[in-house]
Amino acid sequence: MTSRHCEKCGYPLFEKDGKTICANCTEEEEGSSQPTTDAALHLKRAELLDRLGETKDLNEIEHILRCLHLIKELI
Ligand SMILES: [Zn+2]
Repeated sequence: MTSRHCEKCGYPLFEKDGKTICANCTEEEEGSSQPTTDAALHLKRAELLDRLGETKDLNEIEHILRCLHLIKELI
């Protein structure tokens, strides 16, 4: 355990493999320049939407739609 606390939830931060991780957010904290969870999710959603427009594979489409649905619940 480190003396630092998560900026988002206030949980103590843990160091693992040289990275600082919040056990609550399970998100890697590497400094203020890192995107927030929200930003990362928006980025991922944009990537998924791009992929959705390109693929004709029904299995992949289903998978992407599930992922988009999960992301929607998080943001
Ligand atoms: Zn946290």
